[in-house]
Amino acid sequence: MTTTDSHQAGLLERYRRSLLGVFGTPPLVLSHGEGCYVWDADGHRYLDLVGGIAVNALGHGHPALVSALSKQAAEAIHISNLFTSVPQIELAERLLQIAGAPEGSGVFLANSGAEAIEAAIKLSRRTGRQQIIAAEGAFHGRTTGALALTSKAAYREPFEPLLPGVSHIPYGDVDALRAAVTEATAAVVLEPLQGEAGVIDPGPDYLVAAREITQAAGALLIIDEIQTGVGRTGEWFAFQASGIQPDAITVAKGLGGGVPIGALITFGERSSALLTAGQHGTTFGGNPLATAGALAVLDTIEQSDLLRHVTRAGQHLVDQVAALDHPLIVPVRGRGLLRAIPLREPVAPALAAAAREAGFIVNPVSPQAIRLAPPLIITPEQLDTFVAALPGLLDSLEGQS
Ligand SMILES: *Cc1c(COP(=O)(O)O)cnc(C)c1O
Repeated sequence: MTTTDSHQAGLLERYRRSLLGVFGTPPLVLSHGEGCYVWDADGHRYLDLVGGIAVNALGHGHPALVSALSKQAAEAIHISNLFTSVPQIELAERLLQIAGAPEGSGVFLANSGAEAIEAAIKLSRRTGRQQIIAAEGAFHGRTTGALALTSKAAYREPFEPLLPGVSHIPYGDVDALRAAVTEATAAVVLEPLQGEAGVIDPGPDYLVAAREITQAAGALLIIDEIQTGVGRTGEWFAFQASGIQPDAITVAKGLGGGVPIGALITFGERSSALLTAGQHGTTFGGNPLATAGALAVLDTIEQSDLLRHVTRAGQHLVDQVAALDHPLIVPVRGRGLLRAIPLREPVAPALAAAAREAGFIVNPVSPQAIRLAPPLIITPEQLDTFVAALPGLLDSLEGQS
């Protein structure tokens, strides 16, 4: 398709003139979605293989989410944290249950991933220690605290000096972690798989080692499940594949199915006691609308047995891509429905553009990898339509690298 003379071209010109340029200019104006499909403002349909970056867990327009939000919107959207509501209490209970958190654990509800990380940073400060260890390649968000934990130089450097006391160690390297963690370490903050870095999976044993190392030093282990949580990898939370208990996890993206919400979950009395009355807060966080939406997402994942579906659909994708045996494609990375298709040449941006022309939304997470984080409800048949198109799309790029 072409956006020349289209409705979209005019809208994108208005976008350029009115929005700050931090995202560049988007390629499409999207108007609506249904299930795993979205439509642009000129009426073209796309299979949504990115799901709003691992957010649209139930796809678009899911009746359970729409009806929960509509009903809640009519009852009460916002009440402030001077008061509480039934959906807020139910969501907190539900999160503790699916996270396998023991008695004495607690939930802080925020509006985004970065805000959940900010709460985790404040939690770590309450240990009385100031050093935080994160990983090279880590992405933890763009607010200034979270940015200190994020490793990419281009994101950080324009805003330095950032929060002091943060160091980055090679991801997946147990010896480097062991060498870095001391009795001065407040917290180690890790993604179970690195999403923004290109879906890098160190394997479940890494978190087992991280748990041992942090425990021995009296440091908190905080797992950032913002991208990997809420069923994305086929577990409720990816850390559960390691069989460990962290001190805290951060959750956001998929939790609200598109409604902005984030959470810090603390595990057990010791870490839950660190933040006390008056030490943190938020105006919007945990409001009835967002929490009712999140409850509908969690209920639907459970009732539709989506964790099992995610594992199967993810494996199907891996198998089908492997069966292509294409010279440009390296074996698929990731778990469940958080995947990267690595490429031998730096053609990911061109491939994403060609895919879009062909009606598929994919994310060029790095020059040499396409990230797929589709709605958890995507069917193997829908995945197959993209896999079938992939060789032709790659061949169309020949000579473009
Ligand atoms: C997206 C993401 C964040 C930041 O979440 P926002 O809602 O964009 O602030 C933090 N950590 C991880 C692992 C993420 O994927």
